[in-house]
This record gives sequence, structure tokens and C-alpha cells, in this order.
Amino acid sequence: MNIPGPLNPPTRLLLGPGPSDAHPRVLRAMSTPLLGHLDPQFLEIMTAVQEMLRSVYQTKNQVTFPVSATGMAGMETCLVNLIEPGDRVVVCAVGFFGHRMVEVATRAGAQVTVLERPWGEVFDLQPIRETLQRVRPKVLTIVQAETSTGACQPLEGLGALCHEFDTLLVVDAVTALGCIPVAVDDWQVDAIYSCSQKGLSCPPGLSPVSFSPRAVEAFTKRKTKVQSWYFDVNLVEHYWDSDRFYHHTGPITMVFALYEGLRLVLEEGLENRWARHRRNHEALKAGLNALGLTYTANEKYQLPQLNAVRIPAGVDDLAVRKRLLNEFGIEIGGGLGEFKGKAWRIGLMGHNSRPDVVLLFLGALEQCLMSQGIKVSPGSGVAAANRVYLG
Ligand SMILES: *Cc1c(COP(=O)(O)O)cnc(C)c1O
Repeated sequence: MNIPGPLNPPTRLLLGPGPSDAHPRVLRAMSTPLLGHLDPQFLEIMTAVQEMLRSVYQTKNQVTFPVSATGMAGMETCLVNLIEPGDRVVVCAVGFFGHRMVEVATRAGAQVTVLERPWGEVFDLQPIRETLQRVRPKVLTIVQAETSTGACQPLEGLGALCHEFDTLLVVDAVTALGCIPVAVDDWQVDAIYSCSQKGLSCPPGLSPVSFSPRAVEAFTKRKTKVQSWYFDVNLVEHYWDSDRFYHHTGPITMVFALYEGLRLVLEEGLENRWARHRRNHEALKAGLNALGLTYTANEKYQLPQLNAVRIPAGVDDLAVRKRLLNEFGIEIGGGLGEFKGKAWRIGLMGHNSRPDVVLLFLGALEQCLMSQGIKVSPGSGVAAANRVYLG
């Protein structure tokens, strides 16, 4: 065969729904020579990663570690450990990822009740209470940051409500962690999962999970074995917990990456990091509005890290995204599910939530819209964003 040329992909700015760009310090950490996955030095790094994850998740949960795979593996880990065949599960589904939980829970043998809302909206506690009363499920699942709609599901009070009915609360925080508050203990969340490649500015490959004592009790008392060997937390815990027994070869380089990514989050401080995401979102939103674009999610529930906007009438979705990529090296996301062809998804996650990124993007988008014959007042997007930054 002809050996392909050296790896030399173009430079991109990843402003889609994920992956987002890895922080340069994370990339440097990844060039660190390997340690053995049971080396005492590596075990110390694992312990530090777990401690930092607890801080970022705002939890004291002992069982907190990164699953060796992407966010979907976190979803799978949470669901297959808590669900036994025949268990009743309520899935609050208001977008693409909610519906994935239906699929994963069903495959785990659950009897699933789906609670739905129109895309772009969020759930109130009252209909959830009524459903809990009627169904009495073992588990209720919900997505905090629904990446397909750009809506942020409030979680205050939901854990307490679930516990009134002896239900375990599972939360998808894949697009939330590192961008907006995730308060596992205050919200009484029982199982939660996230990913490395969105708000934590690492490459894809790890899925931080955390289980409350209630959840740990539920999966240690199971009558049946978890049908997945790899994701069975009772087994994985031997590696990530005190006896550090071989379960699978830890992805050393990814653990180095997460170590540095979490250090960056904690150095900045959680409050500062959330404030930075809000500020850059406000500037981007002002700019997008000035260019005539509107959000798919209600004003009250917009995610700062994932800006989902309607594609203006008469604009060719693919042509704009192609121009952004080819002329500017910028990737944004198209719509998923009900929003396919109707929305753009602009991510400002972790390291990418910055004024220079916002101003570059607004300038580039203006050119793309003008190339589509859309009338915009020149410079209006950048000017509106700058008013937010200077205001
Ligand atoms: C990205 C995402 C996932 C899936 O994570 P992968 O890392 O792609 O496996 C799950 N849930 C939500 C809300 C997401 O945005």
C-alpha cells in the first residue's frame, strides 16, 4: 500500500456541541510519558483526579471516578447499574439526549414511562410529582443541559421530590459540567455523568460519574448481575477505589488530560468559571440578536455554553456551515432531531468561552449571512457584543 502522509489536519476552532477545543495545557499534559496503570505514582494521580472531580461536582460521594469512555458510557453506566429487568423508570425527555436515555433504559430491561415536553422547553416539578405518584418508579432520569435544544433544566428540589417516592434521580450533566453550576449534594442527585470534551476542555474519552450512598446501596443490593461487565461499578470500583485492583488498563494519557483540565477549573474557581460563561454568552447573544437571529429556548432557560438559534428564512444551512469551516476554520453544529435543518448550535464551552472567540465568530457569521443575501447592518453583531463587554 501507499503509506498515507504524515498527520497534519487543519487548525479548527470547535464551536459546535462538542468536542470543544482542548486547553493547550491539557494537550501538553498529554505528551507526558506513560506510567504503568498500577504504578504508585499513577495511583496518586488517580486519587487527585477523584478529589478534584468531587470538588467540581460539589459532592462528597465516595464513588466518583471517570469511566474509560465517552459521555454515552457514563449514561450507560448509570442506567445499567441502577436498573434491573422489570424496574419502572421515568425518563424526562425534551430533546435528542433524553430520548437516548429511553433507548438505553429499555435495553437494560426497564419498563419506561416517557414524560415529554415540546423541544426547547423544560420540566416543572408539578407534572413530575404527578408522574412519580402514578408510576412509583425506581429511577427518574433527566438531562440538565439538553444540547439538542440549548435549554437548561433547573434541578433545585427535584432530588428531594424523587426521594419522597423512593425514586433515584439520574442526571445527564454531559454539557453542564465546567460551564454552569452542578450541585450534586445540594440537589440530592443519586447518579450523574458527564464527559471530558465539552466544559472540561479535554479530548473525548472519559466520562466522570458520581453515585450517592443511596445509589451505591441500590446497586450493591441488586438481585441480578449488571448485564455489562465493563460498566459494572461493583467491579470497576476495585480499580478506582482503595484496593486498586486490575479491572481494565486505565487510559493513562486521558487521565493526565483530565488531571490538568480539572486543575484549570479549580484554579479559575467554579463561580468565576460560571460567570465567564454567562458573560461571553450575553455578548454572543447580543451579537446574534443584532444579526437577526433568535434562540430556540425560552430566554429564562438558555444555556450559556450552548447557543441554539433558528436559521433565518432563505439561508442555506449547509452553505453557511461550509463557509465558516473553509474560510475561517470554525465548526458549529447543525440541528438534531426536530431541529434538523432549522437550528444552528454554537458552543462556547470551557476554554472556548472567550471574548476573542465571540468577536471572531460574529464577524465571520456576518460575512456568511451577507454571502447568502441576508441584509445585516455591517459590523452590528461585533458592535453589540462589544457594548456588552464594555457596559
Ligand atoms: C454530548 C452529549 C452526550 C453524549 O456524549 P458522548 O461523549 O458523545 O458519548 C450525552 N448527553 C448530552 C446531553 C450530550 O450533550
